[in-house]
Amino acid sequence: MSSARSSAADPVAADRPELAAIREFMLIDGKPVHEGQGQPVPVHDPATGRIIAHQPDAGPAQVDLAVQAARRAFDSGTWRDMLPAGRERLLLKLADLIEQNGVELARLETLNNGKLLGIAQGLEVGASAQWLRYMAGWATKITGDTLSLSIPFPPGTHYHAYTLAQPVGVVGAIIPWNFPLLMAVWKIAPALAAGCTVVLKPAEETPLTALRLAELVMQAGFPPGVVNVITGRGETAGAALVAHPGIDKIAFTGSTEVGKLIGRRAMDDMKRVSLELGGKSPVIVLDDCDVDRAVQGAAAAIFFNQGQVCTAGSRLYVQRGLYAKVVQGLADVASSMTLGSGFDPATQIGPLISSRHQQRVLDYIGIGRAEGGRVLTGGAAGEGDGYFVRPTVFADVPQHGRIAQEEIFGPVVVAQPFDSLDDAVRLANDSAFGLGASIWSNDLTRVQRLIPRIDAGTVWVNTHNMLDPNMPFGGFKQSGVGREHGKAVLEMYLEKKSVCMAY
Ligand code: NAD
Repeated sequence: MSSARSSAADPVAADRPELAAIREFMLIDGKPVHEGQGQPVPVHDPATGRIIAHQPDAGPAQVDLAVQAARRAFDSGTWRDMLPAGRERLLLKLADLIEQNGVELARLETLNNGKLLGIAQGLEVGASAQWLRYMAGWATKITGDTLSLSIPFPPGTHYHAYTLAQPVGVVGAIIPWNFPLLMAVWKIAPALAAGCTVVLKPAEETPLTALRLAELVMQAGFPPGVVNVITGRGETAGAALVAHPGIDKIAFTGSTEVGKLIGRRAMDDMKRVSLELGGKSPVIVLDDCDVDRAVQGAAAAIFFNQGQVCTAGSRLYVQRGLYAKVVQGLADVASSMTLGSGFDPATQIGPLISSRHQQRVLDYIGIGRAEGGRVLTGGAAGEGDGYFVRPTVFADVPQHGRIAQEEIFGPVVVAQPFDSLDDAVRLANDSAFGLGASIWSNDLTRVQRLIPRIDAGTVWVNTHNMLDPNMPFGGFKQSGVGREHGKAVLEMYLEKKSVCMAY
């Protein structure tokens, strides 16, 4: 076991509650399960490279246990037939428990993911509680429709027709490592509000907060089996979950490559499927913008969470008259950023998630150079044993180069100038992805003309990465299928049943 973990007994660890919160098991039917198949999966602290835990790698047998537990909890009606106000109360209780355990959860996330502690507190903990409270409200507001029929047959017969919205069943939820606790909540909150039960598989890199979340689910008083967490690798635990016949729906967030695999496999037995996938979101800066605000906004759009954000503003298009000024301004911000541990309040850029991902991002930087991109700042690993990459700004990148087209998922932005608004639209839409986009301008007429022409599930104006539980979120094109948040996400967890009664 690692030195970080074993120091839990150390007096110094008194102010490190995250060490005592590490769990090295799965939670199935409310009980810890320690054994997976084969070799356990090591979990790292990305700021130091040290191993902090080992997790079971769930195989088909453990996945089956978890799906059976979720199946029993669903089929018995304990959860789906609970009064909606009862489901609402439990979701609200879970939100309270997340806040009450917020210090420990945020620190655990920073330890496991490397992200800045402030972001862990505000987003992983704070936003998770907000999302649960928002979704709790929907539990009591799920409705069907009353329908009038236009061709009643035989003539003279009367019909009463309506729709029922019913939970889709057992959900297999598979999530990535970039916002581990928040992503878990984005899946379980609407599923539970709708009356579904869940088997959640966090990313193998970041299982720790999902396990504490599952413990808090039990503490809140949810019936056993309503939420189960299995750990392990994608090719083993994840694939077994997707293939399991007891799963009714797969809710996946992750890369487009894996999303396509999962979508195809899910279709073999017509499982419902929603996919939140990758992005290469454009930041479009018009020549009438507030320049300082656009520069700061473009920096936040790409460097927030080390660029490990599906909507990261990784393509910067600036109208020619402002191009040099904005791109140099962005490079100045990037070169002044402090790299370090997420626990250090002075840190602005933490480590990437893994040495493998660090190498992948550095490889892309090499590709960008080979493609003729000009590195204005960054372009190298940071110092120390952690998985750091310096914030990197590429200028004059060819539009069809790989670094302008492929998702890098790190602190790397590629910039290009444009002339007309038509050019901006053409460049922004010249991508396989369509998740987010932002427009920076003070001219509402130009903004309004652009918004409908941009292929993106979310368009921000003079802001970027702003999300809210009431705002539907999802992708055009290869960025996904379906929507999260708002009323729209509930439809992903409900089946519509038409009822027609003759009288
Ligand atoms: P990934 O696709 O490698 O893994 C995501 C999850 O899928 C992990 O839990 C992994 O274990 C699992 N998995 C991998 N192979 C699998 C398989 N064959 N069968 C079943 N499960 C499998 O993605 P990642 O590297 O963890 O996350 C980064 C990606 O996630 C980026 O592409 C990013 O854009 C995307 N993302 C999208 C959103 C969104 O809302 N659209 C949000 C966050 C991240």
